[in-house]
Amino acid sequence: MPKLSTTNICDLCRRAFVGTGSLCPSCKPKDTRKPSFKRGYDHEWRKVRAEVLRDHGIPQSDWHLFDIDHRPAYNKEIEPDHRAYELIPMLHVEHSRKTAQVDNERTSDGKFTGQRGRNGR
Ligand SMILES: [Zn+2]
Repeated sequence: MPKLSTTNICDLCRRAFVGTGSLCPSCKPKDTRKPSFKRGYDHEWRKVRAEVLRDHGIPQSDWHLFDIDHRPAYNKEIEPDHRAYELIPMLHVEHSRKTAQVDNERTSDGKFTGQRGRNGR
């Protein structure tokens, strides 16, 4: 017999619920890492990506070197349409550097930059 509708007590809120697992539906973490196509990086995105790279004159042989930077950062909940964002092709290295700078500004070798030796920053 498959136990599809057993009654369980939620580990977190201690309420009874019908289902499997140790957490009720409202306590279950919702944002479990989904496959990328379910996070908005799907067929449509590959099309948009190709357009952006082409529009910036990047030869197809170099496309694998690039990430597309969403400005502002992509958020499917706020705006699922990639074309509503400013889309900038960035080399992988530049893109990860920029992403890192959102939290802590560091030099390319991983040190905090601070203010010394910078012009007007
Ligand atoms: Zn619960």
